[in-house]
Amino acid sequence: MTMRKPLVAANWKMNGSDALARELTAALATVNLVNVDVLVCPPATLLHTLASTEQCLLGAQNLSQYTSGAYTGELSASLLTEAGVRFVLVGHSERRTLFAESDLVLAEKMQQAIAHGLTPVYCIGENLQQRQQEKTGQVLAKQLAAVYASHPEFIAKSVIAYEPVWAIGTGEAATPEQAQQAHAEVRQQLAQYDSKAAATVRILYGGSVNSKNATELFGQPDIDGGLVGGASLNAEEFLHICQSA
Ligand code: PGA
Repeated sequence: MTMRKPLVAANWKMNGSDALARELTAALATVNLVNVDVLVCPPATLLHTLASTEQCLLGAQNLSQYTSGAYTGELSASLLTEAGVRFVLVGHSERRTLFAESDLVLAEKMQQAIAHGLTPVYCIGENLQQRQQEKTGQVLAKQLAAVYASHPEFIAKSVIAYEPVWAIGTGEAATPEQAQQAHAEVRQQLAQYDSKAAATVRILYGGSVNSKNATELFGQPDIDGGLVGGASLNAEEFLHICQSA
C-alpha cells in the first residue's frame, strides 16, 4: 500500500485580509499537525504576511505562462519563488471559464511552474452538464492528457485537485462515493503515463468541503486531502478541516 501524506489547501480566491492571515497562523500554531501538510493560497498581496510562517506551506493562485518581460499585471514563476511561494494552483475552473485559460496555456503554466521548482496543484473537473451526460471520465482524461501525455515526468512533481465545477461554491459537495470514483479514475488515467507516479501523487478533492463532510471525504482510499474555498476563510473551521485529514 502506498503511503501518501494528506494535504489540505486553502484557496482564498479574491478574499481574505492581512488580519485573516495572522489569525490563521495563530490558530495553526495552537495545534500540532504532524500528519498533514497545510497549504495556504492567499491573494498575491498577502503572500508576504504568510511567507515567514512555519505553520503552513505557501501557495499562489495563479502564475504567468511567460518567463519575464512586458506582461503588465502578470506574475512569473521566479517572482513567486522569490516571494517564498512553493506551490501554485494551475487551471482552477474559475481561471478556465472566467479567464478563458485553455489547455494549451495551462500546459505552458505547468511547464513554467515545474521549471522553477514550484509544485503545481493542477485542477481538473467536469461541469454539471458533462456529469449529466456521463462524460466525467472523458473530461478528466482530456484535461490530464493536455499536460501529462507529453510530460509524464510532471506527475511526480504535481499535486492534482479534482474539483467538480457543480460542487464549487454551491454548498453541494460530491458524495464520498462520487468523489472516490472520480479520484480512482484520475489515478487510473495517470497510470497509463507513469504507474509508479500515479500511485504516489496526491489527489485532493475540492468543492464545498467543510468541517462536517471533510472526515468522510478524506477517508476515501484515493482522496489525499482537500482544496478548500469558502470554508478556508474561517480560521477555526479550516483548522477543523485540517484536523480531519
Ligand atoms: P469551495 O471552493 O470550497 O468554496 O467550493 C473550492 C475551490 O474553488 O477551490
